[in-house]
This record gives sequence, structure tokens and C-alpha cells, in this order.
Amino acid sequence: LILLPKIKPESFFQLSIIIPFYNEEESLPELCAWLERVLNSNNFTYEIIMVDDGSTDNSWNTVKNLQSQNQHIKAISFQRNYGKSAALNEAFKACKGEYVITMDADLQDSPDEIPELYQMITTGKYDIVSGWKKKRYDNAITKNIPSKLYNTVTGKMSGIKLHDMNCGLKIYRSKVVKSIEVYGEMHRYIPVLAKWAGFKKITEKPVAHQARKYGVSKFGWERFVNGFLDLASIMFVGKYGKKPMHIFGLWGSIVFMVGAAIWIYLAIAKFAFMQYKMTDRPLFYVGIISIVIGTQLFLAGFLGELISRNSHDRNTYNIAEKIGIE
Ligand code: UDP
Ligand code: MG
Repeated sequence: LILLPKIKPESFFQLSIIIPFYNEEESLPELCAWLERVLNSNNFTYEIIMVDDGSTDNSWNTVKNLQSQNQHIKAISFQRNYGKSAALNEAFKACKGEYVITMDADLQDSPDEIPELYQMITTGKYDIVSGWKKKRYDNAITKNIPSKLYNTVTGKMSGIKLHDMNCGLKIYRSKVVKSIEVYGEMHRYIPVLAKWAGFKKITEKPVAHQARKYGVSKFGWERFVNGFLDLASIMFVGKYGKKPMHIFGLWGSIVFMVGAAIWIYLAIAKFAFMQYKMTDRPLFYVGIISIVIGTQLFLAGFLGELISRNSHDRNTYNIAEKIGIE
């Protein structure tokens, strides 16, 4: 009898490391070498998924080179620059690890944090452990101060208390990344998306941060506007995406009824007491506007319902567990 060693299926790893990059050619070789060092010395089974988000420099050739020397590396390249969210989403679909780590390519996030992040998520049974750049080496005015404001607002709106929601370095349970869809600029709000998907065990770990060694930041001032608009969509879609009439119908009815009440009051005042012309009262206009806006909100609710009825994921729910069912 020959005892074969227990072979793990090839598609199975402890860790998937996901790295989206856009024009980071100088950093990539250093980053990969550093990752290899840390992951091998801790005996992890792993894959590294590098996503080229439409780089116009030599990044893709660099990655192809690295890949040919290292069988842990897998790579995806976009035809054009779609954004960090798109890059992450593509890798989330492809990854096969039990836990998934995302990190930036610019060497600002340290691979040395990986063993502790892994330790924390496995022993604490968390869904997400998010990095927190407690001591941050970025420009105070363009990055650090806006980031504080942004974290406070997002925390208030979403009920998730993280100091650094948008930190690129995070570890997830595989199921989390398989259950969410990230697009636009939504990579800033992955913990919020995860919470809406039912993954609420979210915590943070202070992580080391470094100043950018090569290249420049890829995010400018537009991130404020886009970032907050995306937060609004996430909050809305998360809460009412599957039942738009519940918000539009409610507010449409309330506003319409206020308008109707104003008109009834004005009509009684005029015809019963003959006090004045209806149009002499400013209230008249408030009445008209309320009725118009109320009707429009209601219509928006109907349209929303029609759209969500046609959407392919109208009946998609995250199932936590199944017993006796395929
Ligand atoms: N990135 C990307 N696509 C983009 C912009 C950025 O893949 O359109 C990557 C970038 O290469 C880096 C990470 O996202 O690996 C974080 O970007 P950056 O360091 O410029 O952001 P910052 O640290 O300045 O907030
Ligand atoms: Mg950076």
C-alpha cells in the first residue's frame, strides 16, 4: 500500500494577494521580491494577482518578466485605464485563496503586515481586517486632512467606525469579495458594501506606511466629488435598491399630501370666507410645487420598480449556509 501525501487541489491557496497598478513600473520588481520573501518565510500557500489597469509605461512588460520567473504570479491587463475599482473587481472574480489581501503597488503598503493580518482574521474570525495608516506619510493638505473628514462622514452615514476606510491594505474572507461588486470609485467603500452584503465583523489594524518612493499619486481632487457621490449611491442602492418605491413612494405621498392640504386650506379660506384671491398668498406656490414634486417622486418610484424588476440580480441574496442542498 502506497500512502500518497494529501494533495491540495491546485486551485486552493491560503492567500490571494491582489495588486492593482497603473504606471508603477519602478515599484513592481521591489514589491514582488519583498512579497516573496515574506510569504515564503512564513510558509504560506498563495497566489499573487497583478492587475494592470491600462498602464502606458513599461509596467506590463515588467510584470510579464516577473511572472516568467515566478509561478506564484498571475496577471491580468486591461485594454485601457478603468480605475482601481474595476481592477479589484476583476481580481476578486479570479482569485482562489481562502483569504484575500489587497494592497497598493507603490510600496506605500508594507508586505511585512501580511502575517499579522492573517493571524488576526483567522483567530478573530473576522470578515474584514482593514489597515489603518495611523502614521501617514502623505501630503497633509491634499491627503491627510481630507481623509479625516471623509472617514468621519462615511462612518456617520454607514455606521462603520474605521479610521481609514480607504486604506489599500486589507484582508478579507474569500466569501466577502465573491459577494460584492465594485465599480466606479467604490473601492473606497468596500467595508460599506460588505456590510450591506451582510458581512459585519469588520475591524482594523494599525499598519506601517511609507512615503511614495517612485512615481506620483494617481488620484487627484476629483476623488472628493466622485467619492461622495459614490457613497450616496452605495447607501441608496444598499437600502432601497431592491425596493425603490418604499422611499420614493413614501416621500412622494408625503410631499403631495402637504401640497393638497395647502390647497384645500386656501380653497376654504377663499370660498367660505371670501378673504382674498388664492394667488395672493405665497403659500399658493408652495402648494403647487409640493404637488408637482410629490407626483414626480412617486413616478420616480414607479420607474425604479420597473427597472429593478428587470434587473438580473433582483432575486440575488447572499446565502450564509446551506444544509443538505446543493
Ligand atoms: N491605481 C490603479 N488604477 C488607477 C489609479 C490607481 O490601479 O486608475 C492603483 C495605483 O497604481 C496604486 C493604487 O491604485 O497601486 C493606489 O493609488 P495611489 O498610490 O496613486 O493612491 P494614493 O496612495 O495616492 O491615494
Ligand atoms: Mg499610494
